[in-house]
Amino acid sequence: MPSLMECSINNVIKIFHQYSRQEAHTDRLNQNEFKELVQKELPNFLQKENRNEAAIKEILEDLDTSGDKQLSFEEFAMLVAKLTEAAHEEMHKDGHRGHDHQHGKGFGESRGSCQSQGGQSQGGHSH
Ligand SMILES: [Zn+2]
Ligand SMILES: [Zn+2]
Repeated sequence: MPSLMECSINNVIKIFHQYSRQEAHTDRLNQNEFKELVQKELPNFLQKENRNEAAIKEILEDLDTSGDKQLSFEEFAMLVAKLTEAAHEEMHKDGHRGHDHQHGKGFGESRGSCQSQGGQSQGGHSH
């Protein structure tokens, strides 16, 4: 059974494929697919951007370093890296006091539900 960390990475890949496969069978996200992914899978992390279609287009253009108007997984992974960093910073907003190292809730409030998902979907093993 994969660890929580490994599950999280696998889930990022799974979700990318879920959307990249919708229109034309490719391993790339076009603009529609990217918009849908951001709206459905990043409603809290990209809350402001989701209210503004131009902002989503801008994110795609920033990430699209090859200039083909689509996102490869490599380009998409840059967004994941940036969000991971931003989410960590957000967590510290609430929780920095003295030399305590504490994490607040960050962008989402569902830390618990992420944990209960980990591993369970990978075919349980019970007796
Ligand atoms: Zn792929
Ligand atoms: Zn930290």
